[in-house]
Amino acid sequence: MKKIIKKLQNNENLDSNEVLRLYDIDIFTLGDLAKKIKEKKFGRKVFFNINRHINPSNICKDICKFCAFSAHRKNPNPYTLSIDECVKIAKEAYKKGAKEVHIVSAHNPEVGYEYYMNIVKVIRQELPDIHIKAFTAAEVNFLSELSGKSYDEVLDDMIESGVDSMPGGGAEIFDEKIRNKICKGKVTSQNWLKIHELWHKRGKKSNATMLFGHIENRAHRIDHMLKLKKLQEKTGGFNAFIPLVYQRKNNYLNVKDFLTGQEILKTVAISRILLNNIPHIKAYWPTFTLNLALVACEYGADDIDGTIQKESIQSAAGASSKSGLNMNELIYQIKDAGFIPVERDSLYNEIKVYK
Ligand code: SF4
Repeated sequence: MKKIIKKLQNNENLDSNEVLRLYDIDIFTLGDLAKKIKEKKFGRKVFFNINRHINPSNICKDICKFCAFSAHRKNPNPYTLSIDECVKIAKEAYKKGAKEVHIVSAHNPEVGYEYYMNIVKVIRQELPDIHIKAFTAAEVNFLSELSGKSYDEVLDDMIESGVDSMPGGGAEIFDEKIRNKICKGKVTSQNWLKIHELWHKRGKKSNATMLFGHIENRAHRIDHMLKLKKLQEKTGGFNAFIPLVYQRKNNYLNVKDFLTGQEILKTVAISRILLNNIPHIKAYWPTFTLNLALVACEYGADDIDGTIQKESIQSAAGASSKSGLNMNELIYQIKDAGFIPVERDSLYNEIKVYK
């Protein structure tokens, strides 16, 4: 173990066996190593943005077992927002200072391909300078299947409609055996990575998530991170890695043992150490809780996402993000934890530093 720690202290690469032993290092040493990497990049800064999540529909052709958002027996409230309703939400958020709308939907075949593109087109027409982050690689795959268009064509349509960047959702866990158990039928891991590669080739940025704390093990998480690292070496297109903690309510996965805070923090620290070629590690507060997200900023994370205003996907499964967070409260909490709050735009340009 000492040899691995020494290598990390000297910024040397670990071999494949050593990488698998990272979780065996004690939490304080891991935290210390990750914190040094984070502080070398960003000092005591913690980034956030003022954003609004829009989830246009919860009617889904897929049946992911961990999902509490889509309309099913445990959540029998199907809805589909009209395009006008989506635009109204975006406009109201913009008036309140939102710089970004984050659009992620269930895979609703009834509304058709144009519905998805038109949401973006009309928001772009009405709000020319808002950043539109839209459609996960899972949605791109669904839209490709729905329309018969290639991934390239869907991505070109997204750009033409006004999408600026892609969110990192739908990655779940890349191991195909686990994927088959938790989200069979959804985009494969190979295609998730391919879609992001094609997006990056267009000079565009995206994020990458990892859903953990369900039926995967530590080796699956390491494998997931290494696959992202490899693609990032090729494209450099990922802005942030976002480890999402599995939420336990209202779904069909029946997980008995939940993650400890220690395991969550170790995962954040390991991601900061391994993914040294991805600029930001986000402790997404809806799945961490704000308190743990701020602790994670001492373990390598530098971003806690944003005000969100309203969120339906994680909150359906028990996360506390239903109504988002007030900006002043967010700034206060970041400062109170001993960090420097920095409002950023969607591409991590600094807008305001709150000293
Ligand atoms: S996670 Fe997404 S794709 Fe899977 S069932 Fe839920 S809404 Fe559908």
